[in-house]
Amino acid sequence: MDSGADSQGKPRLAVIGTGIAGLSAAYLLKDDHQVTVFESQARAGMGAHSVDYASKGITSRIDIPLRIFCHGYYDNLLALYDHIGVEILTSDHSGIFSDETGRVLLHYGNFRLGSVHLSHLKGNSWLNPAAWTIGLQSRRFFARAKRDVSRSGLAELSFGEYLQQSGAGREFVATVLLPMMSVTCTCSYQAVRDYPADLMLEYLTCGVHELGIMTAAKGVDDIVPRMLVDVELQTNSPIALVEPDGEQLRVVTKAGSTRHFDQVVIAAQAHQAAAMLAGFEERRVLLGRIPFERSSMSVHSDQEILPAPVKGLSPVNYHVPRDAERAEVSVDLTKAIARLSDQETVFQTWNPIRRIAPNRELARVEFTRPTVTRDSRKAVIALREQHCQPGNRLWLCGSYMTEKIPLLEAAVDSSVAVAGHLGAAIPWKTDTPSAV
Ligand SMILES: Cc1cc2nc3c(=O)[nH]c(=O)nc-3n(C[C@H](O)[C@H](O)[C@H](O)COP(=O)(O)OP(=O)(O)OC[C@H]3O[C@@H](n4cnc5c(N)ncnc54)[C@H](O)[C@@H]3O)c2cc1C
Repeated sequence: MDSGADSQGKPRLAVIGTGIAGLSAAYLLKDDHQVTVFESQARAGMGAHSVDYASKGITSRIDIPLRIFCHGYYDNLLALYDHIGVEILTSDHSGIFSDETGRVLLHYGNFRLGSVHLSHLKGNSWLNPAAWTIGLQSRRFFARAKRDVSRSGLAELSFGEYLQQSGAGREFVATVLLPMMSVTCTCSYQAVRDYPADLMLEYLTCGVHELGIMTAAKGVDDIVPRMLVDVELQTNSPIALVEPDGEQLRVVTKAGSTRHFDQVVIAAQAHQAAAMLAGFEERRVLLGRIPFERSSMSVHSDQEILPAPVKGLSPVNYHVPRDAERAEVSVDLTKAIARLSDQETVFQTWNPIRRIAPNRELARVEFTRPTVTRDSRKAVIALREQHCQPGNRLWLCGSYMTEKIPLLEAAVDSSVAVAGHLGAAIPWKTDTPSAV
């Protein structure tokens, strides 16, 4: 057992988990603490699933998942990336929607007018009255959502209730809105409907469609080392237990090695955090109220999943079978990611419903992801209240810990809040309150 004291007189702090929440927490806290970062996987979490893709004599790294973001919603993420020097690029994420027979329901593209991205129908959708109906319903939905977003009482409604009350067009909801939000939140249509309406409207009206989608130009291998500075990194170190021990917290790995820390930031997902806590009963119960869903992602080059030959198609292909619980969504990475544009077509397919030829598959990864309900939101507020208790030493951080859709921004928001509680100076202007 170690003493817990640091030769430089800095408090010892453990960060458990190296998704973007843990990485950004470690980065923000490193100046005033001696930081040890634990990760259960062999590589830091953001890059744990990346794979190499070789074609046309070029080898490129593909991130799984591909992480997109935009202005208007990702203030802390963009400020962090700017601060650590991550280069970002705009990316085309226009889409084509087809049904279980491969029939195209809607195909749209984007073009840029100055800094604004405008959508237009593509291909045969120009001649398809159903596509025009969906386009019209979409315009009505967004116009109404922009008026409603600051309306009081929205947080008491589920998104499903809002859609019903606002009279959103049925074809647009079933063909476009639910599939888009099911991939954005990587969850079922039902879970999308269960989200609090204000969180969905905040995202949908942030300008994501007008301001364009962005990605990190060089992928996560360029991002992770920029945040793992002046910290001790322990990979292959799943944590089994975090419990109070006198004035400190005892952290035990699954292999049985024990260390003591003055502060512990758990930046794993809610169910993973609950599994490692002992002696924090109230928090364990609250964490148990955060729902999550499992889904998988395949990286492959099987073009059979497309409704038409690859040439001329928009980069994002939504396969929307009637009666499915989720869409199957494939992104043509050679169209969405500039550094892959010279290679042979390769896809990232979320929730593969159809068979992908095994000899065409590079990787398949299983994920869990939190979702938000009106009840889970109350649990998160109660968990954040625990951060304000005098003498608190256990901090929960992660995309589930803010009142937002659990995306990259929510994860960075949560680490900014924890760093603020622990007295760290945030090196950019932020509206994120460190107190509840
Ligand atoms: C398929 C998919 C696509 C997505 N696409 C986007 C997107 O385009 N844009 C966007 O903004 N967001 C996207 N997201 C969401 C985004 O990935 C999450 O918001 C983000 O990863 C959350 O970060 P986090 O640090 O809170 O948690 P995580 O990334 O889940 O990190 C938790 C870390 O903790 C580690 N861990 C768990 N248990 C232990 C343990 N016992 N001991 C040690 N370590 C442990 C895990 O290995 C992991 O590295 C996507 C999510 C998925 C699943």
